[in-house]
Amino acid sequence: MSARLELPAEDLEVRAEFDLLVVGGGSAGTAAAVTGARLGLRTALIEEMPFLGGMSTGGCVGTYCGFYHQERDGSLAPLVGGFPLEIAETLRKRGDAYGPIPFKETAALPYVPWGVKLLLEETCRREEALVVQLHAKVTHAIFDDGLVRGVAVQTREGRAALRARVYVDATGDADLVRAAGLETFKGDAIQYPSMMFTMQNVDTQRALAEMRRLPEIIEEHFESEKLPRRGGNLIPTLRPGEVLVAMSRIDVGGRPLDGSDAEELTYGELEGRAQVARLADFLRRRVPGFEEAFVADSAPRLGIRETRKIAGEYALTESDVLGARHFEDGIGRSAWPIERHVRGGETVWKFLDKGTWYTIPYRCLVPRGVDNLLVAGRCLSAEPDAFGSVRVIGPCMLEGQAVATAARLVRDADCSTRAVDVDRLRHELTARGVPL
Ligand SMILES: Cc1cc2nc3c(=O)[nH]c(=O)nc-3n(C[C@H](O)[C@H](O)[C@H](O)COP(=O)(O)OP(=O)(O)OC[C@H]3O[C@@H](n4cnc5c(N)ncnc54)[C@H](O)[C@@H]3O)c2cc1C
Repeated sequence: MSARLELPAEDLEVRAEFDLLVVGGGSAGTAAAVTGARLGLRTALIEEMPFLGGMSTGGCVGTYCGFYHQERDGSLAPLVGGFPLEIAETLRKRGDAYGPIPFKETAALPYVPWGVKLLLEETCRREEALVVQLHAKVTHAIFDDGLVRGVAVQTREGRAALRARVYVDATGDADLVRAAGLETFKGDAIQYPSMMFTMQNVDTQRALAEMRRLPEIIEEHFESEKLPRRGGNLIPTLRPGEVLVAMSRIDVGGRPLDGSDAEELTYGELEGRAQVARLADFLRRRVPGFEEAFVADSAPRLGIRETRKIAGEYALTESDVLGARHFEDGIGRSAWPIERHVRGGETVWKFLDKGTWYTIPYRCLVPRGVDNLLVAGRCLSAEPDAFGSVRVIGPCMLEGQAVATAARLVRDADCSTRAVDVDRLRHELTARGVPL
């Protein structure tokens, strides 16, 4: 018989009421919160980490993907406007990002995580209508008669209740949707996580000259050195002697580690750092230019690509992505290839035709069975292949902008999040520079 511990029921005072409450201050959540405040909504952004940016800062993923793409003639052009482009361009002007640079058949913008952290915080602090709470985790949601009625937030002070007209789940793991008791799923093919890390004192000139040979070097030593991933990227940050390394991959008995499982997540953090030490040693021994390099640090947290997603009004499919489908309720453009980190250290790529894009339907951001809750970012409704494309940061940010704009329409029309006038939503987005 297993022992049980019964906790006393809690009766929490509602500490504050908002028009919009965003849970998760990653790329998607920060975009939603800033947009909401700019549209005149009293907005709260609740983040469990001590900083904003989610995987972009905490996971140090290192490049903004999905912001630019390659035209048919190979030239690089912005794919997004509005909030994501504002952030990308500001980072570039500050010297905290460079490019865009061509990458495979598309384009990426390498950035410095520290610069993203600072810019997102500065952007939030300028908005008077926005309250940001860090070190704050949403633990419960009260769901009744089709509506989220309030959430409980755990802070260092204890637990408090908050309420809002509209809620956004931007937790990456569909934490809020799950807490509300609504349907979520993981599917049977989640992607592998990775621990990113930075090396300094690299002779970058020599290392970059060898970059083209990296896949060959990795392939040659893949079995003998028990490397976790075939291929990988060395991303110069443009700070002297500094390179971000994307070569790790964490499994449990050969299958992908599940970042929403407490025990596996702990194992992943520990194994991730052990892997960093092994990979740094490999680079020093095998890759010219790294002989004197050292690990500046690993990312603050394990990079989680995929866990739970919502059961939404529509699930994006592989044919939508590769067929460059434009939806009537499309809220932004996306053209990142399908990139799936799969078994055997492999990465599978499937590309859209150059110069084309699909749009992300609003319905992918609308969980079934609830009238005042939307999602943005990597917990949206998508089939596994389509998810491999839509999970990158450009789409996450534009989804954040879209759901906050929808929240404003919900307030104006006093309607359900499921009944938002999508023509009006698209009109509002284009008026703010979002290409559709
Ligand atoms: C190793 C790796 C490499 C990648 N490389 C790239 C790349 O090069 N370019 C690219 O564009 N994309 C890349 N991606 C994908 C991309 O980083 C993510 O999909 C994207 O950043 C997700 O953004 P998000 O806002 O949806 O979620 P997240 O960034 O995961 O943010 C969710 C936030 O919610 C918070 N949160 C969760 N639960 C709660 C709660 N209950 N209460 C309060 N806060 C909560 C979390 O702390 C987190 O800050 C990579 C991903 C990984 C893992």
